[in-house]
Amino acid sequence: MGIVVQKYGGTSVGNVDRIKNVAKRVKKTVEEKKEVVVVVSAMGDKTDELVSLMYEVTDHPPKREMDMILTTGEQVSMSLLSAALFELGIPSISFTGWQAGIETESVFGNARIVDIKPDRMFDSLKEGKVVIIAGFQGVTDDKEIATLGRGGSDTTGVAVAAALQADYCEINTDVEGVYSTDPRIVPNARKLPCITHNEMLEMATLGASVIHPRAVELAKIHGVKILVRSSFSDKEGTFIKEENDMEQTIAVTGVAYDTDVIKVEVLKMPNIMGTIANLFDYLASEKVNIDMIVFSEHGHETINVAFSVGIENGQRTVDQLNKHKSELKFEDTFYEKDVAKISIIGSGMTTNPGVAAKMFKILGDQDIRIKMITTSEIKVSCIIPEERGIEAVKLLHSAYDLDVEETANVEGTP
Ligand code: ADP
Ligand code: ASP
Ligand code: MG
Repeated sequence: MGIVVQKYGGTSVGNVDRIKNVAKRVKKTVEEKKEVVVVVSAMGDKTDELVSLMYEVTDHPPKREMDMILTTGEQVSMSLLSAALFELGIPSISFTGWQAGIETESVFGNARIVDIKPDRMFDSLKEGKVVIIAGFQGVTDDKEIATLGRGGSDTTGVAVAAALQADYCEINTDVEGVYSTDPRIVPNARKLPCITHNEMLEMATLGASVIHPRAVELAKIHGVKILVRSSFSDKEGTFIKEENDMEQTIAVTGVAYDTDVIKVEVLKMPNIMGTIANLFDYLASEKVNIDMIVFSEHGHETINVAFSVGIENGQRTVDQLNKHKSELKFEDTFYEKDVAKISIIGSGMTTNPGVAAKMFKILGDQDIRIKMITTSEIKVSCIIPEERGIEAVKLLHSAYDLDVEETANVEGTP
């Protein structure tokens, strides 16, 4: 009997009826003679509510206590689902992250899973039970409870699938698979039958929130096959796997869009050896992740550097630049928040020339200003004004022939 891990996201367990619906889907899988391990998210917007609740008490929540409160969200879902399964005559048992043997680093708020001791899960499966695990949490070496960062239940699902050597990991969500772009932006987006780990990793990192990038990364390392599908229909979903079965005929598989980006400019630094290294060293020491970088000489005397960072790095970037202004000797800094990153992704790019040129032409023809560009083998990203972002997604999506007739089914919050 093969093991299947099914992860259900917040919308899928958003109210009692939806939890009962999940229980029915789990029951169906059990009846197909599978051993089922379920990973659940908190109900609907529960995690956001818990964050707000904490901020009603203090503007400076202790990180440990924030993790303690956040993990309760998933625990509500797991026990309700277990009870719903009992109602349907399916024996089950719910586990918190630590009960399930999920061990993490000692970092509150964004811990990585370091190991999973699956004995207890295996024992319960052997007893014929469905195992239900609270997503997005684990236990540290010193017996503290830590969360994996927002969206972390996907990572729990894939990590558990790897530890149990499951046949595959389902990511059950509120859309029917991975689409060529967010179907909430382009309703005629194309559902992809299959996508490679590498393409999905790029799409997820560049803003496609349908699955967390760390989950894809783990799946790639451990060779876990993922099926993204809807909790609300029986339509075929999207397989994320190592290789695509078909030869790549299309150059662009998807368009990703991310508004959580800031553009930073550091102007007129002295053009002497080591300046650039020092600048990025100061930022790295505060764990600021740099995305795109554009560098130019300003005559022979000075240099200008522009770079982009995720919004969560914004304050640390400002603080570091202010702190080291006198050593770096730059004249000025500018921060632009009203920007967005738009990206095209596709393994087919490597063998189809002119893909990037087409993107620049399409944006240029509509006077959408490109402020920065970065490329890899399978993606091209541009920073553009945020106010033109949605329009740009739609333009590129049709220009690369990704539109379909059918309208995607998307489920709202209850
Ligand atoms: P869950 O609560 O199940 O984890 P998320 O909200 O995290 O669900 O992710 C699902 C959402 O991802 C969809 O509702 C959709 O709006 C968004 N999304 C963004 N890009 C894509 C894409 N390329 N394909 C499918 N969904 C996408
Ligand atoms: N409940 C957590 C969040 O909202 C984890 C998750 O759903 O993946 O971020
Ligand atoms: Mg999610």
